[in-house]
Amino acid sequence: MSDDNLLHERPDTAPLVQGWSAAMEPLRYPVPSRLGQGADWPLRVGTEDMYDVVFRESPVDMAMAHAVPVWDWMPNSLAPLQAQYDFVSAYPDRAILCGAVDPLYHGVDGALKQMEYQVRELGARSFKFYNGHVDRSWRCDDRDLAYPLYRKAHELGIDMLQFHKGLPFGEWDVELLRPIDLQAPAREFRDMNFLIHHLALPYFDEAVSIASRFPNVYLALSGVLNYLRVAPREVQKQIGKLLQYVGPHKLIWGSEAAMTGPPAPFLKNFMELQIPDDLRDGYGYPQITHEDKRMILGGNMARLLGIDVPAKQRQLAATGT
Ligand SMILES: [Zn+2]
Repeated sequence: MSDDNLLHERPDTAPLVQGWSAAMEPLRYPVPSRLGQGADWPLRVGTEDMYDVVFRESPVDMAMAHAVPVWDWMPNSLAPLQAQYDFVSAYPDRAILCGAVDPLYHGVDGALKQMEYQVRELGARSFKFYNGHVDRSWRCDDRDLAYPLYRKAHELGIDMLQFHKGLPFGEWDVELLRPIDLQAPAREFRDMNFLIHHLALPYFDEAVSIASRFPNVYLALSGVLNYLRVAPREVQKQIGKLLQYVGPHKLIWGSEAAMTGPPAPFLKNFMELQIPDDLRDGYGYPQITHEDKRMILGGNMARLLGIDVPAKQRQLAATGT
């Protein structure tokens, strides 16, 4: 996020940045942080900044750094791959790389080559996709544009694909971000795990329906838990419903740290989260347990990535990094 990585000549760039900053501002906690306290757009988040924010200012052991394949307003994309790679290679014990490609931006052949490069040379363990865009979008069940990418991921030994769903940027067509186009891929690529980010809001019920029926579809709570302070009731209802229909073993925390500041206060809030009695009585939601929270905050991701948690804890304690 920086001014020199913006396509100023596009008339929709300035409104996007203003709208984004306005949306982010109330989500940030006023805590001292290396990133400062405002939600300024021209924010350059360096490798050491991110280490401090995530690992020193917050009780976090490991993180996944996502490249964000959005070139609509940013020539170098939002969250460039190189920056994520620099972070992961500086702290390889703690950080894991999620690469990113787009079959229209790169072309299918270019995307396949990029995937090979990102896995073999950069060590990517997953891929992030944004199928909705302001100008050129694609569907996740497109057999010509999307399926070759899933096949390539499988060939490269990757079994986790992640999708930005819901939360359109600027004037994207929101319906492109419905999660329904992940059903056919989930049926056809049984060995692949599909992560739907942001609960696909405003398509929450569709995301719940899909994740509850497909064993290989997971939901990432990225961005959603940031609302726990400003809209606690809404989040309690969402989490209650997710626990009831999807299950705690398929929910994954996400911090949005670069945009909303250190994860620490959000984590504290989440650890204090309870499902109120009237929601439990009225909707049959279960109470959230400590074990549920343990799974959501890393247990599930560790299981999916094959990380031995006790061994990793011993390693981090020994190295002190
Ligand atoms: Zn996203």
